[in-house]
Amino acid sequence: MNTTTPYLNPGLARPAPTEGLDQPFWDGLREEKLHLQRCAACAGWQWGPELVCHRCHSFDLRYEEVEPTGIIYSHQRVWHPVHPALAEQGPYIIVLVELPHADNVRMIREASVHPQPNPHAELTEFLLTRQIRYARASYWDAYVVDFLSGERVIVGSFGPARIPDYEQRVDAHPEAAAFIERMPCSSQFRVAQWCIQVPVGRPEGAAR
Ligand SMILES: [Zn+2]
Repeated sequence: MNTTTPYLNPGLARPAPTEGLDQPFWDGLREEKLHLQRCAACAGWQWGPELVCHRCHSFDLRYEEVEPTGIIYSHQRVWHPVHPALAEQGPYIIVLVELPHADNVRMIREASVHPQPNPHAELTEFLLTRQIRYARASYWDAYVVDFLSGERVIVGSFGPARIPDYEQRVDAHPEAAAFIERMPCSSQFRVAQWCIQVPVGRPEGAAR
């Protein structure tokens, strides 16, 4: 991974390793190198660090540098903080990476991407830029835009799943509500994966 825009905000507390089984791993990272455990008896790689080789039960485990490139085996977008330090950080993406140069051992990492591909952020930005305060969309799109906009845009769901508080607030301003539907669609504006019909009588929305 040679891209460098992290999902997590700067200033987050980092692990503070003490002397232990994984010390060479952390020492390596300080020099921007990846060191993993390798068995001197059977030459097998393993991770996380253990006292004994998983394959041959040898205790002769050492650390070796491995090429820090891998294949994303799986990923997950984390919405709920699993630690108090992460309370203000979500959502962020973690990846399970397979290392082909080390017997395909897998490691979990925070994903770093550039640019951050986030179509919902693009949609939210569009609505905020046009000062649209209310909208209707499918349940999931509504949920995400409400979240990403910090409720500066209130999006109710037009699907069977409802978000009651938001429905009421959109119902109270029907003339000001944009309509957001997923492509394929044909209404006024196309943003990322959606078509957007902006409210009638909004000059900043109608212009273009
Ligand atoms: Zn071994």
